[in-house]
Amino acid sequence: MKLSVIIPVYNEEGNIPVLYQEIQEVVKQLINNKKINDYELIFVNDGSKDKSQEILEGLKRQDKAIRVIELRKNFGQTPALKAGFDSCSGDLIVTMDGDLQNDPKDIPRLIEKLEKGYDVVSGWRIRRKDSFFKKIASRMMNNLRILLIGDYLHDYGCSLKIYKRECIKDLELFGELHRYITAYLYVKGYKIGEIPVNHRPRKLGKTKYKTISGRGINGILDLLYLKFWSSYSSRPLHFFGRLGIYQWIIAGAIIVEQIIKAYVLRELNLGPLLMLAAVLGITGLLFIIFGFLSEVVTRSYFQENKIYNIKKVF
Ligand code: UDP
Ligand code: MG
Repeated sequence: MKLSVIIPVYNEEGNIPVLYQEIQEVVKQLINNKKINDYELIFVNDGSKDKSQEILEGLKRQDKAIRVIELRKNFGQTPALKAGFDSCSGDLIVTMDGDLQNDPKDIPRLIEKLEKGYDVVSGWRIRRKDSFFKKIASRMMNNLRILLIGDYLHDYGCSLKIYKRECIKDLELFGELHRYITAYLYVKGYKIGEIPVNHRPRKLGKTKYKTISGRGINGILDLLYLKFWSSYSSRPLHFFGRLGIYQWIIAGAIIVEQIIKAYVLRELNLGPLLMLAAVLGITGLLFIIFGFLSEVVTRSYFQENKIYNIKKVF
């Protein structure tokens, strides 16, 4: 059993050495208890402008289990995580932040929970040490996510998570989707668990996400996409086509009503209602054409990716 720990870092020079020591202690304990027999620590330096890279290279010289991946510029937390996933070789994969807010001492408990039959176990920061607004915004987004996706997790945003290797092949991370990794895997049929974990205030360095509003809007868009993906990825024509047909039905009803009026009352009213019918008719047609186009795109996507997900063949 090999453990990979993936840590994206962006300007975390003060935190890296302490985090390394903390992880080191936990990993040694796991090896002594025969929970794992090998490990690797993957630090993905996401274009830091401070001394993070020097510090990481210094650690690498002392410890062969470390791998430092330096990205050419600051790509963001999702691409940094993806770079880590792409290069890891462990059977168990832990992700965590590089700012010491997550506590490596929780890793053994994450493994224990995973062994109970889960594919992913996520941390739940019961006593979260972040600003009041961040917590409120998170809670609202959490409720919206449960409503749309239906995965009952208390805390989707905690970076401290453990995955079985098989999940990784299904992780297509784009944009800022690192926040919804568990929702994404849930949609693909993986079993997601959760345990309470320790959360500490950030002592050194600064948070990289200051504006809540930008984060909120992006978060809502990502969620809507995920909902669309989970329900219609293999049949987008049913989504767009249905919208188009509904519009045609309304447009048709308006036109019939207008024709009847014209016959009965002997007046033809070229007013707003007919205009609405025309707009609905044309945009309905566009929706349907859009549905056909999406269907073509999706079909080429699903030539490589399956529309189902096998757990095992017995
Ligand atoms: N991070 C990164 N690239 C970025 C932003 C953040 O690699 O563009 C890393 C950061 O160094 C930290 C983790 O992602 O290890 C979480 O970031 P942060 O602590 O700023 O987020 P918060 O805890 O405030 O939500
Ligand atoms: Mg943080």
